[in-house]
Amino acid sequence: MKVRGINLDSQMRCAHYHGASDIVAIKMKCCGLYYACKDCHAELADHEIEVWPESQWNQQAILCGACKTELTIQQYVQDEWCCPVCHERFNPGCRNHYHFYFEVPPVIGPRSD
Ligand SMILES: [Zn+2]
Ligand SMILES: [Zn+2]
Ligand SMILES: [Zn+2]
Repeated sequence: MKVRGINLDSQMRCAHYHGASDIVAIKMKCCGLYYACKDCHAELADHEIEVWPESQWNQQAILCGACKTELTIQQYVQDEWCCPVCHERFNPGCRNHYHFYFEVPPVIGPRSD
C-alpha cells in the first residue's frame, strides 16, 4: 500500500503528526490516494481536500500503520481508539480532526462565534 507523506516512517507517522499513536493513514476522497495526514496532502497534492460523505463510510479508507490492514471509516470512528485487527492504540485526539476528512454531523451545543 503506497502512502504519501512528508518524513513518513514505517508506521505512517509524518512530519506533522508523529506521536507514538499517530499511526493511521487516510485515503483521501478527492484523489483516492493514501496520505499520512491532511497537511501532507496540502503540501504534496495540487488540489483541495474533499471529505467522505457519511453514506460512503463503508469504504475502506483507513490504513493501520501497525498491521497495514485497511479499515472502513465506520470501523475507525466506532472503535475505541484502537485497531480492531492488531489492537494497536490510535490517537484519541484524532477525533478533533475528523471533520477535515469525514463529513460529520454539526456539533450540538452553544456556538463559539
Ligand atoms: Zn486529494
Ligand atoms: Zn503530515
Ligand atoms: Zn492494526
